[in-house]
Amino acid sequence: MSRWLRRSRGHGLALVLLGLFQALSSTLAAEGAPEAFDVVVVDAGHGGDDDGAQGRGGLVEKVVVLDVAKRVERELKKAGLQVVMTRRGDQFVPLEGRTELANAAAADLFISIHANASSYKGARGIETFFAAPEATDQAALELARAENLAFGKDAQPPAAGDPLLAILGDMAATEQLTLSQEFARMAQHRIATAEVARSRGVKQAPFVVLMGVHMPAVLVEIGFLTHPEDEAALRDDDERERLAKGIAEAVAVYRERYDARRGVAQGLGKTHIR
Ligand SMILES: [Zn+2]
Repeated sequence: MSRWLRRSRGHGLALVLLGLFQALSSTLAAEGAPEAFDVVVVDAGHGGDDDGAQGRGGLVEKVVVLDVAKRVERELKKAGLQVVMTRRGDQFVPLEGRTELANAAAADLFISIHANASSYKGARGIETFFAAPEATDQAALELARAENLAFGKDAQPPAAGDPLLAILGDMAATEQLTLSQEFARMAQHRIATAEVARSRGVKQAPFVVLMGVHMPAVLVEIGFLTHPEDEAALRDDDERERLAKGIAEAVAVYRERYDARRGVAQGLGKTHIR
């Protein structure tokens, strides 16, 4: 993140605040042992007036994703992690509300939970996204546009020529994107590989909610509400529990690697001090 921040000087108050945050983080890091992986943000999509997608059988995205998010929270807490929920009830939380909460908590990972919809009746399955200015394909781009619309027409990823795009382009080269992709693969593997027919893979697309946070971030689409079998599965407690446990298992593996990496990095640093 430091390279990203260094190059972004002069882009306004938000970045000044980021600089302060960076300074504070380095102060904290200098004072003690490397920080362990400890805080996860679980973001249930939509809420309030924004229902999100709706199934043919009447299942509503904002309801099912909140329930799965709460189950993920329960699993992560059992593992001793701190969890920040962007919403706990049926209320609309604006884009800034979600991203600022995550950034203020200096979370180590951001997991957004959504359910999908398609005008193509055959579309079904689970897919996990990380954020990048370029989408994997047209369907991924359209999905990101649809999800971004929930935050109003102003909450769009930067257009070509926007100075912010240069920053995002730089960000794309950084650790944050690599780690997001790494976690996306872990999550997708655990929630979808058991049901090969339903795995749509790991993809990238410009989701504004993922682009606003300064930590590795993924968005999981837990199934298509417009597919009768997916909708039936998502009504089922066992399926919701399976999804939540799969996501929590991915977090456990990611956490282990994260802590190991930090430990190794510290050791390497010491051997190079003269
Ligand atoms: Zn959604």
